[in-house]
Amino acid sequence: MSKLFIAGEVLHSAGSLEELKNVKGQKAVIVTGGSSMRKSGSLDKAVSYLKEAGIETEIFEGVEEDPSSATCMKGAEVMANFQPDWIIGLGGCSAIDAAKMMWVFYEHPDADFDAMTKPFSVPTLRNKAKFIAIPSTSGTGTETTGLAVITDREKGVKYPIVSYELTPDIAIVDGEICATMPANVTSNTGLDALTHCVEAYVSNIDDNYADALAKGGLEIVFDNLKEAVNNPTNIKARQNMHDASFMGGLAFNNAWLGIVHSLSHQVGALYGIPHGASNAIFLPNVIRYNAKVSNRFPDLAKVIGKETAEDLAVAVEGLRSEVNNIATIKEFGISQEDWEKNLDYIANNAFVDPCTGFNPRKPTVEELKDIYNACFHGDVVDF
Ligand SMILES: [Zn+2]
Repeated sequence: MSKLFIAGEVLHSAGSLEELKNVKGQKAVIVTGGSSMRKSGSLDKAVSYLKEAGIETEIFEGVEEDPSSATCMKGAEVMANFQPDWIIGLGGCSAIDAAKMMWVFYEHPDADFDAMTKPFSVPTLRNKAKFIAIPSTSGTGTETTGLAVITDREKGVKYPIVSYELTPDIAIVDGEICATMPANVTSNTGLDALTHCVEAYVSNIDDNYADALAKGGLEIVFDNLKEAVNNPTNIKARQNMHDASFMGGLAFNNAWLGIVHSLSHQVGALYGIPHGASNAIFLPNVIRYNAKVSNRFPDLAKVIGKETAEDLAVAVEGLRSEVNNIATIKEFGISQEDWEKNLDYIANNAFVDPCTGFNPRKPTVEELKDIYNACFHGDVVDF
């Protein structure tokens, strides 16, 4: 049985934040990050639209990057006191993912975080509240995925909490909210969206719906990312990238990802390399590696007017440099010695990462080490 898991309602156009005026309910908690949503005016707008809808609002501000389970418990406490019937995640992926977990602990105060790190173990939601996601970055597609990435700081581990219970009821995909996103965040998150499209398309799950979304998202990223980076207030380019991010998220929510993400998760946890930046470093070589067994890449190459898997890999490298992204892992200031010391550890972790199971080519730990080394130095993979 194939089922398409997608946000319940998707509002996607510049200015669609205003649709909050039409939400039916009594009380909402808005969860947001540092101060960017307050500074840009989006937070105030959201509160005043909700007021017009007759909804009383409480704000939980200050969700950190890579949010912790402790932050999620704190937010759940605010919700327990206020008793909202809507939870709204407004901001970057961290704010929205934290809001999702606060929602879980609000509905189930005794839920066991460790138990929920096992896929599809989140208890049934929507007994107390429903969820609206309003992203301010264009990359993860968390507004339509059943995924929240939460960090356990005591253990120093990042957990992907996976459950379709977490798929938002309403996604507001409003490119105007992204106009204040810094250039490096725009390029990193945009390259993450591109990676989602490629990995979902070639994953070992066949899904016609995901395929079409992945191809469409890829085309939009190639046509708009550079413009969104160079002209941040071009709302048309912003909206296009926001749509592409949603499409990539929807594609991978249904067809999953591959070893670019397995490799990236480890260097993110160990060295703090931004997720989209490391994806863009690994992606070209993983295309070459997977193309040895998958015949799916020429389809994707055609979308951007190219022919072969190698053309696609080169096009990704070209886009990466056009948006000023780093081309090798060593440029993040990692010494050869430090890299060699950790290589076995990260390759073994990448091997058991859940994404590895959906990659079209089954890698060995040795092959993952070879890909890591090639991407550390900027070499081309040919095996
Ligand atoms: Zn990603």
